[in-house]
Amino acid sequence: MTTIYLALVDDWELSGNGSGDIRQLQFEPMRRLVNIYNRLGIRGSFNAEVMQQITFRRFQNEQSELRVLADEWENVVRETFRQGHDIQLHIHPQWQNAQYQDGRWILTSDWSILNYSRETALEMLQGGKDYLENLLKDIDPNYRCVSFRSGAWCIAPSPHMLDVLVDIGIVFDMSIVAGVKYDTRNIKLDYTQCEEAFLPYYPVMTDARKISDTVEPIICVPTNCFYASRRQVLRGHLDKIVGKVKNTISRPAPVSHNGRSVEAYGGEWAQIDGSLAKRIYRKGIVPYIKGKHTISDLAQLDYALMMEMLDSIRKRSRASGLTEVPVVLENHTKDLHNFSDLERFLERAVQSSDVKFITLTELARNLKHKFKVHTRSLIEHAAKNNR
Ligand SMILES: [Zn+2]
Repeated sequence: MTTIYLALVDDWELSGNGSGDIRQLQFEPMRRLVNIYNRLGIRGSFNAEVMQQITFRRFQNEQSELRVLADEWENVVRETFRQGHDIQLHIHPQWQNAQYQDGRWILTSDWSILNYSRETALEMLQGGKDYLENLLKDIDPNYRCVSFRSGAWCIAPSPHMLDVLVDIGIVFDMSIVAGVKYDTRNIKLDYTQCEEAFLPYYPVMTDARKISDTVEPIICVPTNCFYASRRQVLRGHLDKIVGKVKNTISRPAPVSHNGRSVEAYGGEWAQIDGSLAKRIYRKGIVPYIKGKHTISDLAQLDYALMMEMLDSIRKRSRASGLTEVPVVLENHTKDLHNFSDLERFLERAVQSSDVKFITLTELARNLKHKFKVHTRSLIEHAAKNNR
């Protein structure tokens, strides 16, 4: 039997454009999620976006409300960590040189860390790591940032990003999520040709989408994704239609958290690729042919989809022939509205004898020893033996 080690990971942050009420999007849902984890005896992990926090601190002398919020941010993070959950590094470079005007953040810097120089990227990452380690060292003197998740998944290709991670002592990166492609006004990214979607591997140092021939100083653990069944795709489309009809009838006021309305924020992520026919094909037809490519982001899944996700993880774990497989699941506290489906899924998972939960620090510690890390030659060797 294969044992699956699930890392419940959560990118903890405001919206990408800096909008949103930090209490509603971060503090309250994190406490709620941690309560669920605690009740079930699960230890989760949060990728705390630190550029935002450092920026709050930068303005706290002029804007006293920012000092109050930055202090609360630290308290929530420390309290979460004290209860046994993990805190790791997440960086959104668009916070660089942010301005604060009339109670709102103005973010004008590039969203992709791939577009910054090695020097600037190193400065941001080192700054974030130092901030978290200083914040938590009195609770656990051994605490270190050991994993990295890049803002909007931006890690490859890059001549220097993986080297920068090695320089600051990161053990593994989890920014690769196979199959994702963005062509938006903020992000251009193509992970449709990743060589490994599921298991940990040593990456080519200049292109984390590829598996290296040899052992490298850093490891990639892909963030999980799966193909939702046609049945679920159909259900999703029907729900959407019903939702649209209901909206037209009742016209509820759009949900807005300090400017984070669905309408306003959706534009940040609109795909540029053009024609209506293309969009209909991508969203309406492809999912029925091969299933819908779905990131394992629990904030976006209902109970049925989470169970499909777990099924797919079980199948791929078995197919790997390994006895122990780590899997990184994603979450976004800011998008989490349906706590009950998540809770029901976790209740089910903790009762499964083949599922265990680990933190990112535990994952880092067990890479190489407990969990196999692939090189290209190892994979080819295994394929040959299977023939
Ligand atoms: Zn993020």
